[in-house]
Amino acid sequence: SESQQHCVIVGAGHAAAQLCASLIQSDWDGKLTVVGDEPHAPYHRPPLSKTQLNPADNPELQWIRPAAFYTDNNIELLTGHRVTEIDRNAKTLTLDGPDTQSLSYDTLVLATGSTHRKLPIPGVDHPRVSTLQTAAQAEAVRNQVPNAKSVVIIGAGFIGLEAASSLSKLGLNVTVLEFADRVLSRVTSPPVSAFFESLHKNNGIDLRTSAQATAIEEQDGKLTVHTKAGDTFPADFVLMGVGAAPNDQLAAAADLPTDNGIHVNEFNQTADASIYAVGDCANQHHPLYDTRMRLESVQNANDQAKTAAAAIAGQPKAHTALPWFWSDQYDVKFQIVGISTGYDQCIVRGTPEPGQPFSAWYFKDKQLIAVDAINDPRAYAVAGKIIPMQGKPNQALVADASSELKAILQSAKES
Ligand code: FAD
Repeated sequence: SESQQHCVIVGAGHAAAQLCASLIQSDWDGKLTVVGDEPHAPYHRPPLSKTQLNPADNPELQWIRPAAFYTDNNIELLTGHRVTEIDRNAKTLTLDGPDTQSLSYDTLVLATGSTHRKLPIPGVDHPRVSTLQTAAQAEAVRNQVPNAKSVVIIGAGFIGLEAASSLSKLGLNVTVLEFADRVLSRVTSPPVSAFFESLHKNNGIDLRTSAQATAIEEQDGKLTVHTKAGDTFPADFVLMGVGAAPNDQLAAAADLPTDNGIHVNEFNQTADASIYAVGDCANQHHPLYDTRMRLESVQNANDQAKTAAAAIAGQPKAHTALPWFWSDQYDVKFQIVGISTGYDQCIVRGTPEPGQPFSAWYFKDKQLIAVDAINDPRAYAVAGKIIPMQGKPNQALVADASSELKAILQSAKES
């Protein structure tokens, strides 16, 4: 109908798919359009660095929703199109592509994600030096695997370490170069970093910390990565996992407040009441941690999409979801609940040893703020109950691996 509201989502990733699903489930009866610059419908990104690097596994993209979901619900999916400009006064968008088009909206949702950075060093633009963020990049890596002997991975964050695990399983010689003095330094504590370092070394990875890559050189078709210390590492291809920056340029160009992401309120609404931002590109105040944060996780993309959908459907509910995250490396399942930034105490429960469950519990003023669980889904689950209640569990019980998790939960309830 003519009065039908038009909601346009920019970006066709995790957050976009969830936003569509949540709006369809609600009473909202407007028209939905999704514009994405990748050639695909929304797909699961986490497998790209995990199972999908193996050419023998016939690694097909995993669709977040089947194609029928979009057609059955009359969702217009414009893939292969990039939004280049927002005109907030006219409420229109400019799309590039073969034919420049304009789209008008009543409600706009920015779900543009983030972009993995490349280090500004000589040689990074070589075609065999890549980040690992999109289906196309994963496919390019996969195609090189059968003819490759060695790979250098720059950066020992989640993506770099997951790729190291996946590629070493395929028989490649893997070197990981990390600038910081420990792996995963931005997301976890020294004992957990130490566990992952030995895990990778035990699996044959040449893992170097305090190693700064300074240049990538090509000679006779072979790549060599140079470090500041003067070491050189041969590589058939190079992967970079050195962090990501939010795709907030469209919003900034439209004079919406941005600073490490698009600033949104508790309903994921920007300073313009008809524009929302969700997922990796959004920066929001978290009530539990009482600070602004920008998260890069599937959970955050999904939960912020649900929050925005509720507001768009006229049933606003403030975003309070507890952050959680997972990573798979070798046979280790790493789960994180909460945000450990700013902790003043870390208690390790159990012994960080191969094949053993253990967990690291982070406290601030005795309050539990986060837990890293390694092969320990039960500790993860219990922590997920304690953290939102701002509980102060008995630390002697936490430290004693033979104590019951139930008792820890009970002590937090009584705190
Ligand atoms: P995305 O899913 O990145 O979607 C954004 C889309 O918008 C992209 O397709 C982008 O190209 C498009 N876009 C950007 N600008 C425009 C524009 N102007 N016009 C049109 N389209 C545009 N998270 C976890 O929780 N657990 C994991 O184990 C995990 N593993 C990961 C492994 C890899 C290899 C990667 C890359 C990420 C992983 N993540 C993981 C992170 C998770 O995938 C992201 O946090 C999540 O995809 C964010 O969802 P999003 O919708 O905000 O952005």
